[in-house]
Order: sequence, then C-alpha cells, then structure tokens
Amino acid sequence: AARFAVKVDLVVIGAGQAGLSSAYHLHRLGFAPDRDFVVLDRAPAPGGAWQFRWPSLTLATVNRVHDLPGMRFDEIVGTESETVQASVAVPRYYAAYEERYDLRVHRPVKVSVVCDRGERLRVETDAGAFSARGIVNATGTWETPYIPEYPGADSFRGRQLHTRDYRTADAFRGQHVVVVGGGISAIQLLDEISQATTTTWVTRREPQFREGPFTEEFGRRIVAMVEDRVRQGLPPGSVASNTGSLPLTPAVRAMRERGALNRLPMFSEITETGIRWADGTEQRADVILWCTGFRSSLDHLAPLQLREEGGGITMTGRLATQVARDPRIHLVGYGPSASTIGANRAGGAAAPELTQYLEMSPAEIR
Ligand code: FAD
Repeated sequence: AARFAVKVDLVVIGAGQAGLSSAYHLHRLGFAPDRDFVVLDRAPAPGGAWQFRWPSLTLATVNRVHDLPGMRFDEIVGTESETVQASVAVPRYYAAYEERYDLRVHRPVKVSVVCDRGERLRVETDAGAFSARGIVNATGTWETPYIPEYPGADSFRGRQLHTRDYRTADAFRGQHVVVVGGGISAIQLLDEISQATTTTWVTRREPQFREGPFTEEFGRRIVAMVEDRVRQGLPPGSVASNTGSLPLTPAVRAMRERGALNRLPMFSEITETGIRWADGTEQRADVILWCTGFRSSLDHLAPLQLREEGGGITMTGRLATQVARDPRIHLVGYGPSASTIGANRAGGAAAPELTQYLEMSPAEIR
C-alpha cells in the first residue's frame, strides 16, 4: 500500500535561481508557500549549486549573476566586493531573498522519484511523499557531471576528477595534470593549475578565442538556438558547445605568454600511467581533470517517460518551459533558461502558465 502523501497543488523541486524565481512568481500571483505550493531542495543551505563552487571562483571571475526578480544582488553583496567568493556571496543573496519573500524552502529534502498517478503526480522524497497536481522542476545540472568514455579509463592508476571536485590548484603540486575540455571552466582551472604545476591541455575541437565579452545580441542568438532545439525535442547541448568561442580575457593572454595555452587534440585512450594519442605518443599523468560539463539533473523524472527517442524532451509554452508530453510539468533552468537571467524569466513564464493550465485560483479570489 502506498504511504500517506501530503496533498498540495504544486511542488517546486530545487531552490537555485530557477526555483526561487518560480516560487517568487507563484507567490506574487497570490499562491501561498506551504499551502498552494512547497519548495524542496536537497542541499543543506541556501545558495543552489553556487554553495559548492570552488573557492577561487569570485564575483570577478564569474560571467555574471543576474538579479533575482524584485531584489538587487548588490543590496546584499556590495558592488565593490569583486574578490568575494561566489560560493559565499550568492548563497548570502539567496538566503536573504528566501527570507524577504517568505519562500519557505524545505531542506535538505531530496526528491528521489516522481510518478504519474493519473490525476496527480506522486513526489517521493527522503522526507516523505507529496501528491501534487503540477511540478516546477528546477534541479539544475550540478548533480550530473558528464565525463565522456575513453578506452582504458578503468586501468588508470592516477586520479580522475571532474570540475565539480576541484577545490584548489595547490592540491596538485608536484603532479602532472591533464585538463580536458574547451569551455570557460576548463580555461579557468587550467590557468590556476598551470601556475602550480605542469599541465597538458586537450580539447576535441581547436578552441576559438574572440575579442571582448559576449554582446547581448550574441547571447540572444545562442538562447534562440537552444530554444529552437528543445522545441524540436532535441537535447539542448551546453552553452559552450553552442557558442563555439571563448572570450580572450587578460588572463587568457597571460596564459598564452607563459606557454600554458598549448592545446593538444583529444587523446584516444587512457593507460595505467597516463594518456595515449592515436599516433602512439604518450603523456604520463597523475591526474586527469575532466572539465567536460554537466547534463540536466532529471533522473528523478525518468518514470514519467518525458524523453523522445533521441534523448531530448520536447518543450512548449511561451519560453519553452512546459513539457509537451505532460503539460503539468515545467522545466525551468533547462535548455534556453540554463543561465541566471534565463532562469529568472523562465520562472516568470512557468508560474502563470502552469497555474492557468491547472485552473488554480489564487487565495484572494477563492
Ligand atoms: P542550481 O543552482 O543548480 O539549483 C538547483 C537546485 O536544485 C540545487 O539547490 C539542488 O540542491 C536542487 N536539487 C537538485 N536535484 C534535486 C533533487 N533531486 N531533489 C531536491 N532538490 C534538488 N550562469 C550565469 O548566468 N552566470 C554565471 O556567471 C555562471 N557561472 C557558472 C559557473 C559554473 C562553474 C557553473 C557550473 C555554472 C555557471 N552558470 C552561470 C550557470 C548556472 O549554473 C546557472 O546560471 C544557474 O545558477 C543555475 O540555476 P538553477 O536554479 O537552474 O540550478
């Protein structure tokens, strides 16, 4: 027999930028936290995935953390504090935000699985079950690091790490580190590690560097491209794989000058002691650091069978947050909204669309 489940209209899963924005918009439409919707988050404290970012990622080295709706970031974290760790500043901002808008995030509560029960969706967690009419899923990507498969990976006697395991370059002193990946994180970690020890940098494609920061126009083009993909039911692809170029920052120029930006093509296999290319060349290594990105953390939705054959989820709705196969489910912070600004907007689209679809009426007019 099914265990008792708490009945609620909506469950918001995740309290990063996307979940908080969604909760804010639901609240503003007149729906009350803990009565009409609950917000669940598996992390121990406010901050979404930002609380886990490596210590050297500061407000100066992140791209930009966009303000959540209704409250400015620099109200909480002064604009002068460029050297403040992102893992400190963003959680502080989110904590203040949750408090100001009374969003009542339940944590740590991990959603293990969501099942279709006809009229309702059953949301199983490690703190009991919920029975909901709709779901705003805002679980981000941090829980799903992606490492491509290469022959020999199991035989490697050194350590294999992913971006999400990185803390400080000092940990690698005296070791040879292979950094894999051509995205912004790969470059930033290569920069730090190459100042502490010897490195080899490999990427699949020759990285293209571009003068100046992203223009807004460029950003819009990328988002439109990703939106188009998810509306067709294709996997979104990462921003990096869609932009195809990296900003030529002063740090990158300095790396070039000290010879740390010597890119090699991808190796073809991993050996017990390092890596080997197709032509037989070998490089000894103590550490392989995979800066190869993340996938959307959606495993808990697997029983709902939202995916198409090609692995994507067909999205619809004003900002493509609504799942076409099951309109009771919105994915925010997914695909075109996988950025702090996109997550904000996605919450603003998902809240009215989902509550209208379920014909929920706010307390004021009940
Ligand atoms: P998250 O912040 O990951 O929040 C998801 C939340 O869901 C987490 O709190 C997690 O605990 C919770 N959760 C996950 N699974 C479950 C579950 N099963 N049950 C319950 N809770 C769950 N974007 C920018 O716009 N600017 C930047 O400068 C920038 N820098 C970045 C730097 C790095 C290194 C990385 C990896 C990403 C960066 N991004 C940046 C992208 C960034 O991740 C997003 O913009 C945004 O913060 C993601 O918000 P989110 O709410 O979707 O996800």
